[in-house]
Amino acid sequence: MANGKPVSTLLQSSYPMMGGDGPHSYIRNSTYQKAAIESVKTSAKKAILAKLDLKTSIFNLSSYRIADFGCSVGPNTFDVIENIIETIKLKHQQDETNRNNHENLEFHVFFNDQSDNDFNTLFKTLPRYHIDREVFACGVPGSFFGRVFPRNSLHIGHTSYSIHWLSEAPEDVCNQNSQAWKKNIQCTNLVEEVTEAYKKQFKKDMGAFIEARAQELVPGGLMIILGLCLPDGVQMIRTWKGVVHEMIRDCLVDMAKSGITSVEKVESFNLPVYFPQFSELKEVIEQNGCFTIEIMEEVKHPMEDMLLSNDFITSSYRAIFHGVIEEHFGGGVIDELFDRFAKKLNKDPVDFFKCQKDMQYFILLKRKIY
Ligand code: SAH
Repeated sequence: MANGKPVSTLLQSSYPMMGGDGPHSYIRNSTYQKAAIESVKTSAKKAILAKLDLKTSIFNLSSYRIADFGCSVGPNTFDVIENIIETIKLKHQQDETNRNNHENLEFHVFFNDQSDNDFNTLFKTLPRYHIDREVFACGVPGSFFGRVFPRNSLHIGHTSYSIHWLSEAPEDVCNQNSQAWKKNIQCTNLVEEVTEAYKKQFKKDMGAFIEARAQELVPGGLMIILGLCLPDGVQMIRTWKGVVHEMIRDCLVDMAKSGITSVEKVESFNLPVYFPQFSELKEVIEQNGCFTIEIMEEVKHPMEDMLLSNDFITSSYRAIFHGVIEEHFGGGVIDELFDRFAKKLNKDPVDFFKCQKDMQYFILLKRKIY
């Protein structure tokens, strides 16, 4: 930008979830994430009731601004927003000085995601509430690693299953001359240089995410973060998700051998995804210093102990990774890749008993009041 401000976040790389409502869409294949959201519904409610301070002048409101960062296409984002709205109403109902206005509250809801997210499907499937005219919804395109809202404008922010997406794969793992040049498509946590490169990228991106939210949230505003990380000391490669990523890579290597794609393409493919260790995540939030960590805890994912079916794993990963794979390899490879993946998985299923557990976390941050 001419005035020295950062380049628009609209231009950053983006790997949207599968849009539409077809058989491979995110809408139909995000039960895992939906279950996660469901599992913290009560905790989120309790946390908002306890931490939203209506006594401060900023929250003596008749209209609230709520944002979901990395919303995708629903229906998960709708569940999240509904829970937040219900809780704010309840909070007003319980509060003596605000009791009377709980029926007149209005909500401005912002659905944020990258600009090539399928916002059309999101809008077409919006729940009834926007017709009732108490909730006013809009889409906000742009990368959440930069600011997408004016300063001091949001009351409650939320993000789920999004911040393991990096702004890009770390530069070093993409550079053939670097020690971190690798054969894997992910950070397995086995090679120190690769791990360091991913850690550095995560720190930079997550730091930028937190800083942007610190600017956008009003003092006393709340930020809910739900997602996946690794318990300290656990390597990605030992978790079932790490095993699945390696299997996807093996299929790509096979496809290169069959001439469907090239070895160079496979070698230069790096997932811009990183699951930090719990303490790493905490450190980045603390380093920012603009928030108090009100809650940061492990929450059991409802499917954690389930032996997920091969079909479930295949369709979930297809809906999640189709964008990033298509961007690198072109559209023609998706069917072939996931056919091969399904066959490989049937032949050699994930041994859930052998895998170590990853960790689902729930975080509630409160913007400090200076
Ligand atoms: N929150 C939803 C969707 C999670 S999928 C749920 O819990 O089901 C992750 C979403 O994050 C995708 O829609 C992806 O496009 C979005 N995302 C990833 N990086 C992003 C970025 N830098 N800015 C905005 N959205 C991003």
